[in-house]
Amino acid sequence: MKMNTLDKPPYYIDVNTKLSSFWEGLNQGEFRTTKCKSCGSVHYPPRTLCPSCYSDQIEWVNLPLTGTVETYTHVDIPPPGFNGAFYLVAVRMDELDKTILGRYTGEEPKIGDRVTMAFEQMGEQAVYIFKAL
Ligand SMILES: [Zn+2]
Repeated sequence: MKMNTLDKPPYYIDVNTKLSSFWEGLNQGEFRTTKCKSCGSVHYPPRTLCPSCYSDQIEWVNLPLTGTVETYTHVDIPPPGFNGAFYLVAVRMDELDKTILGRYTGEEPKIGDRVTMAFEQMGEQAVYIFKAL
């Protein structure tokens, strides 16, 4: 008797989802996210459905890599996989009405500093970090 006809659990998520363009963008040195073609909202993190008007008419856009430090903290005890202490900055991104977190390279930042995203390889995937402009 066959007990289970599912070959994948119901929560299985395929590699190369509709949001993989975000990760491809990082590999190409771009900060990419989604924009609603219907109402013009820019989303971050990227979405497949607009949270403002529920449209599925979504397009990918590249945003500027620059922003302004809103606040920061020093991480004395880094999580596994990180080499040594670092600064964690909250950056208000240009042309995005949101603040995002990222690791900062360099000396202690100051609130109001202008910063830019830079990219670091972690295996085959690039991730963004921030550095002073
Ligand atoms: Zn919308």
